[in-house]
Amino acid sequence: MKRALLIEARARCRIRGCDALYHWLQVDHVEPHSKGGPTSLANGQILCDPDNKWKRDLVA
Ligand SMILES: [Zn+2]
Repeated sequence: MKRALLIEARARCRIRGCDALYHWLQVDHVEPHSKGGPTSLANGQILCDPDNKWKRDLVA
């Protein structure tokens, strides 16, 4: 699944203008897993580690 998402995102972080290194990228749940979000392509997005943490900070 991660591979398919990476291809769709062209191996780039989803945040516009972000040029995070490839090895920082990770699959994030659009709808958080803790809130019942499924682990699926439709609910997945590619974010780099800093952006993912930043988003988590916003929610928390
Ligand atoms: Zn990023």
